[in-house]
Amino acid sequence: MANKKDQATLEKIVSLCKRRGFVYPSSEIYGGLANSWDYGPYGVELKNNIKQYFWKTFVQKREDIVGLDAAIIMNPKTWEASGHLKEFKDPLVECKKCHKRYRADDIGKDCPECKGELTEPRPFSGLMKTFLGSTEDKSAETYFRPETAQGIFVNFKNILDTTRRKLPFGVAQIGKAFRNEITPGNFIFRTREFEQMEIEYFFNPEKTNWEEKFDGWLEDFKKWMDEIGVDSKRLFFHNIKKEELAHYSKKTVDTEFDFPFGRKELFGLAYRTDFDLKNHNLKFRDPETQEEFIPHVIEPSLGVDRMALAVILSAFNEEKVGEETRLVMKFKNNLAPVKVAIFPLLRNRPELVNKARELYLELAKNYMCEFDDNGNIGKRYRRQDEIGTPYCLTVDFDSLEKGDATVRDRDTMEQTRVKIKDLNNFFRDKFSA
Ligand code: ATP
Repeated sequence: MANKKDQATLEKIVSLCKRRGFVYPSSEIYGGLANSWDYGPYGVELKNNIKQYFWKTFVQKREDIVGLDAAIIMNPKTWEASGHLKEFKDPLVECKKCHKRYRADDIGKDCPECKGELTEPRPFSGLMKTFLGSTEDKSAETYFRPETAQGIFVNFKNILDTTRRKLPFGVAQIGKAFRNEITPGNFIFRTREFEQMEIEYFFNPEKTNWEEKFDGWLEDFKKWMDEIGVDSKRLFFHNIKKEELAHYSKKTVDTEFDFPFGRKELFGLAYRTDFDLKNHNLKFRDPETQEEFIPHVIEPSLGVDRMALAVILSAFNEEKVGEETRLVMKFKNNLAPVKVAIFPLLRNRPELVNKARELYLELAKNYMCEFDDNGNIGKRYRRQDEIGTPYCLTVDFDSLEKGDATVRDRDTMEQTRVKIKDLNNFFRDKFSA
């Protein structure tokens, strides 16, 4: 059998995502917009589950991290200070293969990194410009944020003043980011509008061993990715060589994933020293010694969409069942868009439909559920397999007599009878994460 990586070509995934309501081409009725995608009913659930699990793991369950939701459009001085605006002055070229950017004036014909072809030089910052208010002049010019991180840095003092945090502590944020990518593509892997989950973890470099913290973060994210079902066999950890590090970074590890279009960055972990807080002229005053200094920062920076693609690719399975091929998305329970699908055995028997509907309404109080009375049971199972629903619950005539129902397991396809009165407990055990 072909290995998993080969099973799921990008075209297969794009077509499954469209057909089953995960991801649609954006504004499709107007011919679409290149490299722009909309998340459908199951896609939005999957994406929300990823974000919620991130928040639960790194904000809710940790004493040392707080959350933030900063505005997308910030004072443009932010981007001057962060260094993002400076790049406007220098014409850049980008490698079409590895997407590294270089100043056009000190580069030959090919990418020095991978020998890929380079784009034409362009003055480029990647920032998406807009105007606030009715005049479109320089004073109204501003930008959509290219990363969520700066929203965290500029609020550093506010958070300190209002939460009385001691170092080390972190701030997490999830939100949209915009980059005028020269070469977007590969479905939701690289788009101009995307979503990030970032943490800035601040510490005193005199008191905290950064290497230990850095390794700790990498381990935490390995565990987290395992818990959301990213296939660990397709993950690689690329320690960026010293000479290739950004000037402010002491260490960066890119976590890479084997996508059908090659091994590419899934997310980054970087020790950014005091670069960002220094840019914004922000300091920390030790409450005991009154000593002022600039904390250092370690930054895990993840793309929600890229993570969703890795999760979808990891979950994708084609299995032979008898003569047929079963397509099944083996999402982890915590990420599955629909947790339980509830079916009446027959749609023309009101007593079955009513009982099934009653169970649906009860379970939907706790989980995302779906009611389906369309077509034969086999077809309904296949449909739920394709959207990765872990359990299907069928109400039949015995259910009315004996008070139990059939629970069918997505992965084993085994069916068991469970007492209706025990269903809440049964599913609570399955979905307690
Ligand atoms: P790449 O080299 O792929 O352009 P990057 O190194 O520029 O990525 P970062 O600035 O480190 O990316 O952003 C952190 C994370 O945000 C990336 O690892 C990725 O998951 C996500 N991300 C960045 N740019 C995009 C994009 N254009 N589309 C989707 N996700 C993105």
